[in-house]
Amino acid sequence: MRTLIRDVRVFDGERIVPRADVLIAGDRIGEPDAAPDAPVDVEVDGTGKTLLPGLIDAHTHAFDGDLAEALAFGVTTELDLNNLPPILAAQRRLAAERDDVADIRSSSMIATAPRGHPTQIMTPDVLRALGTDSTLDTVADAGEARAFVEARLAEGADYLKIAIDDGGASGTSLPALSPALAAVLVEAGHAAGLKVVAHTVTAREALVALDAGVDGLAHLYSDVPPERAAETAALIAAYGAFVISTITYIEAVTGDPGGAELLRDARVAARMSEQSKATFTREFAGIPMYSDGVVNASHAAVALLRAGVPVLAGTDATPFGPVHGAGLHHELLLLTEAGLTGEEALAAATSAPARHFGLPDRGRIAPGLRADLLLVDGDPAADITATRAIAGVWRAGARQD
Ligand SMILES: [Zn+2]
Repeated sequence: MRTLIRDVRVFDGERIVPRADVLIAGDRIGEPDAAPDAPVDVEVDGTGKTLLPGLIDAHTHAFDGDLAEALAFGVTTELDLNNLPPILAAQRRLAAERDDVADIRSSSMIATAPRGHPTQIMTPDVLRALGTDSTLDTVADAGEARAFVEARLAEGADYLKIAIDDGGASGTSLPALSPALAAVLVEAGHAAGLKVVAHTVTAREALVALDAGVDGLAHLYSDVPPERAAETAALIAAYGAFVISTITYIEAVTGDPGGAELLRDARVAARMSEQSKATFTREFAGIPMYSDGVVNASHAAVALLRAGVPVLAGTDATPFGPVHGAGLHHELLLLTEAGLTGEEALAAATSAPARHFGLPDRGRIAPGLRADLLLVDGDPAADITATRAIAGVWRAGARQD
């Protein structure tokens, strides 16, 4: 099957190319001029449209139904950052067997201290409601840390996630991994060839994780006021790690409905499941955070990017909200409102996560790469919400309805 998209504006993962032809040959992006006489099965007129790499959400938790909803919104890959093994296995199977759900990579379970974050949220009752009797493993000493990494490797984890969170940001007190134990986990993860990402919500926790050697942070810190954004970003930048944004999540837990504007956007509401719509009525009362968290995190995003820190777009989507798929379009809006250019925000949701999570076959539009593509009306580099005007989604070359 060969599909030619003609005369289309292309966002190649880094920048806008005003006009190009892009060939989809089977499950790959082809070279339009390689075989000019080979027949094309389908032609798509790209006039007035923009073709982007399929979007990558760098922070999700995928349960039943989530990967299908993600793909409907052009999110062709989800990077799951904590899940339960039986649920993860089912999602992986779906992604391997079907072409109408997003692809997935995952850390499997997060490493945390006994009774540490997120065990206060992922209680046995909540997990049963999500369809599993399994619970999170915890890590109390160095021996358990090494065993934890072995267990995640056995589950096929693509990277490792650890939690450094003492609950202080939400006005509680939780046991947290010690810096020494965090370092043992990072070392074991790295020895096994895994990148290590840390859940942290404050700048202090971020520095503890970075001192332990993590490769990336799962959230922007939300406790640093704008006037200290630049000096903190300079400190963080010295470590050479990446940061996943999740402003949508910070918005949700600080009392804003967290992307409720999506429901007022007819382009979005028409595609969103009833279950996702219902999450906007939910209160995240269990995990309050700094009331100025969104402002702080937004300033952090720009300061970090300007200091040379790769910023990856992520939502922290869960079955309880933020929502899968649409949530990433809201995150893109928040990133541009924070001060990123349209191209910078789009790169944060395409080439940047692909590069930093070791997915060289996607995140860009170039010959030979996987044909994960999103076609939209208009120019999202000029108006970021144009990513919602979806005119076509291809998943490894398979066009979605
Ligand atoms: Zn998360």
